[in-house]
Parts: sequence; structure tokens; C-alpha cells
Amino acid sequence: MPTNIYNLTRATLREQILALGEPGYRADQIWRALYHDLAPDATSMTTLPRKLRERLAEAFTFGGLTPANEARSSDGQTRKILFRLADGRAIESVLMGYARRRTTCISSQAGCAMGCVFCATGQMGFLRHLEPGEIVAQVLWVARELKKRDDRLTNIVVMGMGEPLHNYDATLAACDILNDPEGFAFGARRITLSTVGLVPAIRRFADERRQVNLAISLHAATDELRASLLPVNKRYPLAEVFDAARYYTTTTHRRITFEWALIAGVNDTQEQAETLARRAAGLLCHVNVIPLNPTAGYTGQASTRERVARFSEILEGHGISCTVRVRRGIDVAAGCGQLAIQA
Ligand code: SAH
Ligand code: SF4
Repeated sequence: MPTNIYNLTRATLREQILALGEPGYRADQIWRALYHDLAPDATSMTTLPRKLRERLAEAFTFGGLTPANEARSSDGQTRKILFRLADGRAIESVLMGYARRRTTCISSQAGCAMGCVFCATGQMGFLRHLEPGEIVAQVLWVARELKKRDDRLTNIVVMGMGEPLHNYDATLAACDILNDPEGFAFGARRITLSTVGLVPAIRRFADERRQVNLAISLHAATDELRASLLPVNKRYPLAEVFDAARYYTTTTHRRITFEWALIAGVNDTQEQAETLARRAAGLLCHVNVIPLNPTAGYTGQASTRERVARFSEILEGHGISCTVRVRRGIDVAAGCGQLAIQA
């Protein structure tokens, strides 16, 4: 089986090129072609001799992603791309343009095992982890699209399908590959991982003192309510999540983001806002609230504009910084939590 070339770090690519009997500088040229010139396949690597290009095409696959469908939001600012994986599974990635930001939202798994009730990916269940190269290839695909218009990617959020910290090694390997200064050189501080709150993985992430930003999906400030929305709360209750968050901020001195999808009459109450403010007091954090996006498997409704404003005012009143996020791409089901594919 040929290897997905995007699974390889610069060092392992070098080893494999040397094993093919090629000189080391060829590995540098290939790395540059992949991550600097954004060559989509061996044929396009015109800096290399034809024979070598042929050998590469035999020895490696280039991403294992086939774009199979695309939807554009009516304002043209959001594109959702469906990729077919080599084994026939599918995932989705989103590209958003807003002001000068070009952000891609990528998937870390096909499906998700966490079962959050309001999330379309959770509703479809877990299919499999993605390999590092399948994560990297999503980013390169959008980077190529942007390059066609002389544009560049500014931010990566691992907030598509799947729970990135459930697929820890592959996700962080992908970040490291994208971060490589000799290659794509994408700054770790412009990458954000969002987790449902896998406590041991948050602690490991803190211990590794990574520059990648961390967001935790909170959505409720009391255990009973959170467990009814996010089953994982039964395993890692709020006290442990906040302890891990505090451990992260004190270890790394980096701010943590909490995410909160506001559901009318469920978690948009004054009591929830105040409990959150109490729990987050003194923590280096920021709260992102977003009105719930609709999904087929959940009947809850988005909070009204007034309730959203009130919720954020209460937090601000307690000294907790809070941003209300605008919902984007919901007309093509490209919003947070809306990514799902019929298996
Ligand atoms: N598994 C990770 C990252 C992917 S989900 C996580 O859960 O954090 C990205 C974000 O979208 C999370 O904050 C998630 O809770 C949120 N989300 C899921 N379904 C949503 C919905 N229907 N409306 C708004 N946000 C949603
Ligand atoms: Fe998985 Fe995140 Fe969706 Fe929960 S919200 S089911 S963790 S993708």
C-alpha cells in the first residue's frame, strides 16, 4: 500500500527518500513542493526530474481526499466541501472568509463518539479516526483554492467533525507538520483546537506547552444540565473540567476559550450565566457564545437575540470577557455542529 505522503514529517520523508536511493536534497525539494508550492501531486513537482516524479507517484498517495461535493452559502462567504476518503468514508471541511480572515474549519474524525445531543456529527456516531495526512490534506486543499485568487489562509480551527483530543496523536502530528518552518510554516498560534472536555488530554496538552490555542465546549455550568447535553460530562464532570482548564492556564499562561451554544430556555438563563461566572472567576478565559444551529436530531431552538445579549451582559458584568459569534453558513448546513454525512 502506498503511504499518504502528508502523513510524513520532514524527517520521515527524508528517510523514505533516502531509502529510495535518492540524495537527501531531493527530500528538501519535495517538502518545498508539497508545502510551499502546494503541488497537489507528483506530476506537478516540476522542480524534480521526471523519473523521480514517476517513482513518487508509485510510492505515495497525495492526501487520499477526493472533493465530491461543494455548497456555497448565499452570501458567498462560506464554502463547505465534502471529501471522499480513500476507504469510501466522507468528511466535511468549511472555508470561511470574513473581513481579512480566511479561516478553515477542519475535521479530525469521520463521525464522533461523544454523542452531544445537539450536534449533527454526534448524532451520526463514530466511524473512524483520521490519519494526520487526511487532516493536513484538508488544509492544503483550501490553501490551494485560496492561492488561485492570490489569497492566503489566516486561521485553522479544528472544529469540524470529530473530537480532536480523542484522536490526539494524529491531530497534533498534523499541527506539527503544518507548523514546520521549512514547509507550510503555519503559526501554531493561528490554530485552535476545540475539545468537548476530555480532561486527561487537556492536561497532556498543557504539559506539552503547545502554542496551539485551546477551546473547551462548555454549554452548561451545572453537571445535571451539562450531562443531559454532553454525555461525556458523566465521565468528566465540571469540577474536573475547570480544574484541568485552570491547570492549562497556569501551566501555559495562555488564555482558554469556552464555547457555549445558546439554546432557548435551556442554557440561556440568568442562573446558568451566573453559575458560569462564578466557576470561571479568576480564570484566564474568554467565552464565545453562539445561538444554537439547527440539526435534524434535536428539537431545541436558538436563543433570541435579546437572550443572547442578556447572557453576555451578565458575564461581562462579572468581569468575564465574552464574544457573541455570528452564525455563518447555516443555509448550507456549514455552521458549528451541522456537519454530518449519510454513511
Ligand atoms: N468536538 C469538538 C470540536 C467540534 S464541534 C467539540 O465538541 O468541541 C465545534 C463546536 O460546535 C463545539 O463547541 C460544539 O459544541 C459546537 N456545536 C455542536 N453542535 C452545535 C450546534 N448545533 N449549534 C452550535 N454549536 C454547536
Ligand atoms: Fe463530537 Fe464535538 Fe459534536 Fe460533541 S459537539 S458530538 S464532541 S463533534
